[in-house]
Amino acid sequence: MADDNLRILPAAHLQRLLDTLCVRGYRTVAPTARDGAVVWETIRSVADLPIGWRDRQEPGCYRLEQTGAQEIFGIVHGPQSLKPFVFAPREPLLQIERSKDGFTARSTVPPSEKVAVIGTRACDLAGLVIQDRIFLKETYQDSYYAARREGLFVVAVNCTRALATCFCSSMDTGPRAHNSFDLALTEVDDQLLVEAGSIAGQEVLSDLFLPPAPESLVAEAAKRIDACARSQVRRLERSRLPSALYDAHAHPRWDTVAGRCLACTNCTMVCPTCFCHAVEETPDLSQQQTTHVRLWDSCFTQEHGYIHGKNIRPTIKDRYRMWLTHKLASWIDQFGISGCVGCGRCITWCPVGIDLTEELPALLTPSEQQSVINRQQEASGG
Ligand code: SF4
Ligand code: SF4
Repeated sequence: MADDNLRILPAAHLQRLLDTLCVRGYRTVAPTARDGAVVWETIRSVADLPIGWRDRQEPGCYRLEQTGAQEIFGIVHGPQSLKPFVFAPREPLLQIERSKDGFTARSTVPPSEKVAVIGTRACDLAGLVIQDRIFLKETYQDSYYAARREGLFVVAVNCTRALATCFCSSMDTGPRAHNSFDLALTEVDDQLLVEAGSIAGQEVLSDLFLPPAPESLVAEAAKRIDACARSQVRRLERSRLPSALYDAHAHPRWDTVAGRCLACTNCTMVCPTCFCHAVEETPDLSQQQTTHVRLWDSCFTQEHGYIHGKNIRPTIKDRYRMWLTHKLASWIDQFGISGCVGCGRCITWCPVGIDLTEELPALLTPSEQQSVINRQQEASGG
């Protein structure tokens, strides 16, 4: 029996989806090619999509290449995940004005805007689930994040092609989008399989009046997504985490990777799950008003480790170890899930090509020096 949530849309008619979203009041955002990479932009026409382009990603390398085909979603992803849509890179939190009687404070929570993001991948949906947990489900709900999240409508695209840097399959986060999407598309040659994943998605789907998807299309889409999962050359072996990474605290590999790392912060900026931020004051020249601003920060900066007159992570080794240990180990203790969703962006956008899927196995392999340290610790009862 045909699944009511699965419909077929000829790829040449994708504009109908954009038009329907616009009629429903959404600003439609999608990947567009700019300066040699894809970035999210507001679009009104399917012609603005990077049709016929693919991305090649390797450690420290990102290239767009023309294929000559009419593939709409051939590019997997660019440096931006869904993070900037909900956790703004720069967000005014409060405006404070000097008045006759002292100070008055004005909240700057943004109005909720209806934004439909077309082309989100499964790894980024998994990243969104993690950000939701941090900003909405922990002790304090972040009203700025909540306002942005409320208006978000996600049109996911299931991956039928993996990049050399992808490892979502080993993280159980992709390449198929499983939840948290409103609509999910799978491109199969000149057809799109459209699946509704929420009530809002079902409403848009019913506006489109699409016929049910034939079983042959559903089966072919599943086959291509499975093939994509099997084609991934990178993986992260997680069975010994988190404890094995804590045990590797004194491993000499941290020195090796610190010798390569530039502390440029790229890996944290592109990561869909990193949420560190700083807060700064931006007073105006008249000294009558100041804006309290939150901006993305990184555990790779000197300032981020500076607390009460002391830097607790003075070296790059301290910072890389902090980042990887939090991402793959203490995140599990803190939130019950891994802080990595296997998108591979930190590998691509690292200027020196540091690859966490190489670093982790090296850190979990005991070295001679590590064995000596462990024996010394055992002998001293440590
Ligand atoms: S740690 Fe790297 S691979 Fe993992 S989610 Fe962040 S950017 Fe993606
Ligand atoms: S992107 Fe690479 S060089 Fe830059 S901070 Fe991260 S690991 Fe270090």
